Amino acid sequence: MKKGKFIVISGPSGVGKGTICNQLLKELNAWYSVSMTTRSMREGEVEGVNYYFVTKEEFKKRIEDGKLLEYNIYNDNYYGTPKDKVLEKLEEGINVFSEIDVNGAKNVKKIFPDALLIYIAPPSIEELKERLISRGTEDLETIENRLKIAADELKQAHFYDYVVVNDNLQDAILKIKNIINEEII
Ligand code: 5GP
Repeated sequence: MKKGKFIVISGPSGVGKGTICNQLLKELNAWYSVSMTTRSMREGEVEGVNYYFVTKEEFKKRIEDGKLLEYNIYNDNYYGTPKDKVLEKLEEGINVFSEIDVNGAKNVKKIFPDALLIYIAPPSIEELKERLISRGTEDLETIENRLKIAADELKQAHFYDYVVVNDNLQDAILKIKNIINEEII
């Protein structure tokens, strides 16, 4: 039986990744891998839907037990992909869709060389800053840190199979849908 494809979507926070991924989930035939994190829950987020929220101790235990496919530390917090369910779905021929950072994407590519990596880029770092400030979910220091990470990530975006600039949400969604449909058939 044909195995499922691992689809990675990356991009800095504030780029519109969440909205894009929600829309893709409704329209794509794929299973979404909910990540595990030690960061605190943002307003509106739901346990088991956006993330599995755990303590650093719990996260480290998962690492020791080999329960994570990949993990990374981002802005002082751990983020990782729970392993068992992902492997099960891929074996069943189901495409798996995941939202992870650049380091995670690199690790996924090592494990699944035919994974499809898509990077969503902001029109500019200035525009990203505006979006993060107007979202209002983080303080200025966190925003500045995230912008530094974003600038660094952007330099590595060439590593991805595709880079889609989100200057218009609906256009970006359509582009990503077309890429996935073309790559999966
Ligand atoms: P946020 O705190 O904005 O939800 O996520 C911060 C960063 O962590 C984003 O770049 C996001 O894609 C990344 N991330 C989320 N889940 C995972 C994961 O399971 N593994 C890795 N490596 N990064 C993740």
